[in-house]
Amino acid sequence: MRHGWLWSVGVIGLALSGPAGAAEQSFEVDTLTTSRGPLRITCIGHGTLMFEVAGKVIHIDPWSKLADYSRLPKADLVLITHEHADHFDPVALKAVTQPSTRVLANGVVAARLPGAVAMANGTTVTYADITIEAVPAYNLIHRRPDGTPFHPKGVGNGYVLTIGDRRIYVAGDTENVPEIKALQAIHCAFLPMNLPYTMTPEMVAEVAQALKPAILYPYHVGDTDTSRLTALLAGHGIEVRRRRLQ
Ligand code: ZN
Ligand code: ZN
Repeated sequence: MRHGWLWSVGVIGLALSGPAGAAEQSFEVDTLTTSRGPLRITCIGHGTLMFEVAGKVIHIDPWSKLADYSRLPKADLVLITHEHADHFDPVALKAVTQPSTRVLANGVVAARLPGAVAMANGTTVTYADITIEAVPAYNLIHRRPDGTPFHPKGVGNGYVLTIGDRRIYVAGDTENVPEIKALQAIHCAFLPMNLPYTMTPEMVAEVAQALKPAILYPYHVGDTDTSRLTALLAGHGIEVRRRRLQ
């Protein structure tokens, strides 16, 4: 079946009306089971996600280019991986935060965002019995013309969220670095694969074979052909979920 995965995907549609006229935004939604209850994952696009679990709304790298955040649920928690414009967007943050919102970010973003908590690689914060671990996210080979990596080591974060019995890994902008291949007990992983900033399908497949998640979402994919990843991982017991996360 050409689009056989669609049966398992919910789609939420949000009618938007405003001075610019009516527009429609709809996002694919998946629900995972956890011992804390259902985890609803809304695939906003690119590297941007919204999680809803145990009565909490978690926005990850909210980006106003992809959604009208005034029409999405306000955040209890925001996770920001790094300072690039497709991940750190003050416009989206203004729309989605409320006075009680907790914001966790890498150090560069936290320095620019009053009230945000800086998380260095390897540190952990617990919020509402959800453990958030900041893990390294950096380039090994992909660099700017001047030789600096697009994502230097020690700057950006990925996040592992432990929600009851499930560990969900959202990688941020990274390559197949040793620290992420050593993560344990990951149930579901979001791994980036747009070039030249992050990983090739082959690099994503290598990480996936080390992590062995039950579910893998290629995300932040740009114009990379995600079917290549599906082919590379055929027979490895990993469900590759291809969503609209260009
Ligand atoms: Zn980046
Ligand atoms: Zn990015």
